[in-house]
Amino acid sequence: MIIPKAPKLTPEQLAEVRKIAAEFDCEIGVVVGANRNIYAILGDERRELLLNRLEGLLYIDRIDTVDAPFKLMDRRGALSRNVIQIGGVQLGKSPLIIAGHCTIDPKEPGLFYETAAAVKEAGAHVLRGGVWKPRTMPYSYQGDDGALNILVEARARTGLPINLEVMDSHQLDLALKAKADMIQIGTRNALNYTLLKEIGAKTAHTSTLILLKRGRHMAPVNEFLACAEYLAANGNPNILLCPRGTLPTLDTYRNHPDESITPLLKEKSWAPVIVDPSHSVGHIEYVPACALAAMAYGADGLCIETHIHPQKGIGDDPRQAIRPSTLRSLIQEVEQIHKFQNRFKA
Ligand code: PEP
Ligand code: MN
Repeated sequence: MIIPKAPKLTPEQLAEVRKIAAEFDCEIGVVVGANRNIYAILGDERRELLLNRLEGLLYIDRIDTVDAPFKLMDRRGALSRNVIQIGGVQLGKSPLIIAGHCTIDPKEPGLFYETAAAVKEAGAHVLRGGVWKPRTMPYSYQGDDGALNILVEARARTGLPINLEVMDSHQLDLALKAKADMIQIGTRNALNYTLLKEIGAKTAHTSTLILLKRGRHMAPVNEFLACAEYLAANGNPNILLCPRGTLPTLDTYRNHPDESITPLLKEKSWAPVIVDPSHSVGHIEYVPACALAAMAYGADGLCIETHIHPQKGIGDDPRQAIRPSTLRSLIQEVEQIHKFQNRFKA
């Protein structure tokens, strides 16, 4: 919908608008109001160049588009029937819990195996373990290809599907060779369109799920969904959207918790929402409340850093990983909220 700055376009301006629209096979319908006219774009209004050309006209105030710019992730699109399953859970039917270390310590494989068994016992459905880590400082532990074997071994021992983050082609190829069940795209790479395209294409037509974290600087919900659109457009629509906190941070919290965008994501897209409370608040004692808040907002599940001995962990684990015993009681509360919400919906 085109909104002019003046109450109506002059005949010359309308002719110019119609000429531009025609180049994109669109027509213009005039909606005559009591005080001002607005102008409907009839046809596919999603093309960026069409909108940019119109918005560049000095007499146009703004354009409000009716169609979502993301065709595949749109809740009203054909993919809304896409059923995503992993670890015995059908997304939407019951809550999905992803749990495990932020970082696998390659020198302490036993710790990871213990955590893997404990999170399974607590009720988690997917085992997470960081093999390669995006770190703020180049001197911090960066990860180790060898940790992938530990993750794969933990899958064999527990039967839980595995999730790990990849940041480049080398890591992606190794993860796919290891038949990773879920690939995480971290907050720093959420806007790395080249990587999004590659991951979408290399996992196209497979059962690999993608956990797409929300970028720390990503403000509009549409920008987040556009990143998911990259994955779907390149062949893999099995996407879980993961709010994990944004900047600027809230005093004492690691980020600005953003679980409250869950209903907005769900209103616009069919994709399940899995909230990461660990990176949102960044401290053990606040994680459970954030997790429950996410469920109250309608999340389909959680990704929670959990460690058998947080203080022996590396990466984020000493300060933000909860223990499996906490995970176990949290899962029970999460299930109750989910049930309550389903009853509420019916
Ligand atoms: C992580 O999951 O450990 C991680 C680094 O996530 P994020 O990209 O959300 O910071
Ligand atoms: Mn982490």
